[in-house]
Amino acid sequence: MAIKKEVKLKFWDKIYLPAVIKGMGITISHFFKTLFTPPSKRYTIEYPDRRKEDIPEWYRGLHRLNTYPDGTLKCVACFCCATACPADAIYIEPEDLEDFDKEHPKEKAPKVFQIDLHRCIYCGFCEEACPKDAIVLTNHYEIVHTSREAGIIGIEELVKTKREGGE
Ligand code: SF4
Ligand code: SF4
Repeated sequence: MAIKKEVKLKFWDKIYLPAVIKGMGITISHFFKTLFTPPSKRYTIEYPDRRKEDIPEWYRGLHRLNTYPDGTLKCVACFCCATACPADAIYIEPEDLEDFDKEHPKEKAPKVFQIDLHRCIYCGFCEEACPKDAIVLTNHYEIVHTSREAGIIGIEELVKTKREGGE
């Protein structure tokens, strides 16, 4: 059973004016604080004229599908990532591998592996669920698309994702 508690507002609470003035005071104080803080010490930057260079490794940005040095996909099309994804953003079509690859033994590989970046919430669950270290979220943060279709990326793009300032 919900318990209703009656709150008696005072005159100044009812007219909201002191609360509005207090709120404006906080906003204005932050405005001047930011204005007189050197650009290098500010939390925000004038993107895209300036870019953040020191994006930490743990930042969850664009995904990458990892490959072995010879270019073979590490993915074994097990669907663990797609099952763990809370946004239903991963679509996989597996294919059976007939030629047994001694270098990288696996029975299946993804024929289609797509991520809908407009659905993705960059939670990193796919990376955590993967038993093969085949999918990672890199710190690449410039993800821009001009249509819904362009936001659905496949294997060709996913293997090329590079980390900011490195591999
Ligand atoms: S980061 Fe999260 S939402 Fe995005 S594809 Fe991976 S599991 Fe799904
Ligand atoms: S990326 Fe990992 S979890 Fe997803 S299907 Fe491939 S091997 Fe399985």
